[in-house]
Amino acid sequence: MIHILENIDKWKCEYKKCGAKCCTEGIQLTFEDIKRIKGLGYPIEDFLDFDETNHVFRIKGKDGKCFFIGKKLECTIRENEPLICRLLPFRIVEVSYSDEPLMRLKPVVDCPGVGQGKKLDKKKIEADASKFLHENQKLIRDIKKKGKKGVIEEI
Ligand code: SF4
Repeated sequence: MIHILENIDKWKCEYKKCGAKCCTEGIQLTFEDIKRIKGLGYPIEDFLDFDETNHVFRIKGKDGKCFFIGKKLECTIRENEPLICRLLPFRIVEVSYSDEPLMRLKPVVDCPGVGQGKKLDKKKIEADASKFLHENQKLIRDIKKKGKKGVIEEI
């Protein structure tokens, strides 16, 4: 179940104005995200990190930012960006993977793009959030069963 705690009507990503503040290191990836990015020709060891504390896969950092950020602060994998990035301008504030997975989303704080651009497609955001929850629930189970090495071998 997806809960959007504060709604936003219109939004445009103004990454140049905020210095791409959402594109931090450690963006969480699902199995499908990793496969898609690998399919672009990026070797896994270049961009993939395993978070030993939370047992999840994340994008490596580069100068304190996401590995995939370009020289002009643009996303260099825009068409193939991870599901988490598709939820912007919302961020996950709570997630749980019980029988019925649950995610709560809130808007990014102090985003200069709020109120700009096109009307937000809430249905699409909810669909991507739901996809993230289900893909990640499966990944968590697979990591428990096969370990990170076993999962990576299947990518
Ligand atoms: S994948 Fe792209 S949109 Fe997502 S954090 Fe990295 S640079 Fe930003």
